Amino acid sequence: MSKVTIQKVRAILTAPAGINLIVVKVETSVPGLYGLGCATFAYREQAVKCVVEDYFDPLLHGRDAGDIEDLWQLMNNNSYWRNGPVTNNAISGVDMALWDIKGKLANMPLYELMGGKSRAAAAVYRHADGKTLEEIGENVQKFRDEGVEHVRIQWGGYGGKPESLHRPDAAPDGIYYDPKLYMRNTIKLFEYVRGKMGYDLELLHDSHERIAPIDAVVLAKELEPFRLFFLEDILSPEQGDWFRMVRSQCSTPIANGELYNNPKEWDFLITNRLIDFIRVHISQIGGITPARKLAIFCEQFGVRTAWHGPGDVSPVGHAANIHLDLVCHNFGIQEWSGFKEAAQEVFPGCPELRRGYVYANDKPGLGIDLNEELAAKYPCKTEATRWTQTRLPDGTLYTP
Ligand code: MG
Repeated sequence: MSKVTIQKVRAILTAPAGINLIVVKVETSVPGLYGLGCATFAYREQAVKCVVEDYFDPLLHGRDAGDIEDLWQLMNNNSYWRNGPVTNNAISGVDMALWDIKGKLANMPLYELMGGKSRAAAAVYRHADGKTLEEIGENVQKFRDEGVEHVRIQWGGYGGKPESLHRPDAAPDGIYYDPKLYMRNTIKLFEYVRGKMGYDLELLHDSHERIAPIDAVVLAKELEPFRLFFLEDILSPEQGDWFRMVRSQCSTPIANGELYNNPKEWDFLITNRLIDFIRVHISQIGGITPARKLAIFCEQFGVRTAWHGPGDVSPVGHAANIHLDLVCHNFGIQEWSGFKEAAQEVFPGCPELRRGYVYANDKPGLGIDLNEELAAKYPCKTEATRWTQTRLPDGTLYTP
């Protein structure tokens, strides 16, 4: 087989749903043969573009597009310092594009290339919130009517939206929340939904690392009677050791990891069986290559996958999630946020949701394309985002 070489590596920025997305396109020496990968770091999109175009394009030019493992290691080590979110996302963009190219060359969808399907489709969870318990209950019911059996419930979003706060004079602007009120309301929410709908429905919840570590232990214990499918991100990556205390005190299933960048943030949680679901954001850890290794590592310890799947993953990244979901024996659940019409036009071939399951298409590679002309009509906004400026009632900045 003659060598297919990398000729051009570019970052394409687009925001068809109003969220900055970064997609890497790798063009090869074979006319018309290219791959796409997700490099979406929505709040540092220019930095990722710079790494891709100013550093990776010259680094990779002329190299064999088939040597995915070697090129991943090359990109990871090239800057000497590694495991940061900007570089990891840039690596992911190239890594996914190389898998896409390999699938196209083999004329196989990625799930086939990686060993074939473990299941016909991936079960998803949807997100239901609202201002009142009744509104949340109605939103849960809407998903049930659509055939969804796993629903994440939140009262007023992450951390809740308190109607009044006891703030000091001259408290700075920010997204304020009250952790104790949020905890009390979350228990009320589960009492309400379980009381109304019973236990024939899987419920999930995300704390978004917005409570103190000891409160995470309390919340996990208090939620135990409601039999969650999982409780998500009760602790930040910096406070992972507290999972030992959570685990020793209750059996609420734990999911963690959408903020992880570095294998040292997750390895001890897996080998000590301190979490039940690994929830990394695949582009954030460097793409399909490390994600497949991580899934296999988790399988040895009975930990299941629940890849992060919010709106700030491009449809190319969602397609990568789904291919892995189909292949990995220890798949747990897939977060699904859905695609706006404009995003589906910019990215032809998006995975499809039907009756609570999402299906990859059977085209070679990732099976998804990018209409660059249309993408250019939805420019990204470069700005200092506000939603991450979360504060406690006294004005202290807290992890978002
Ligand atoms: Mg989350």
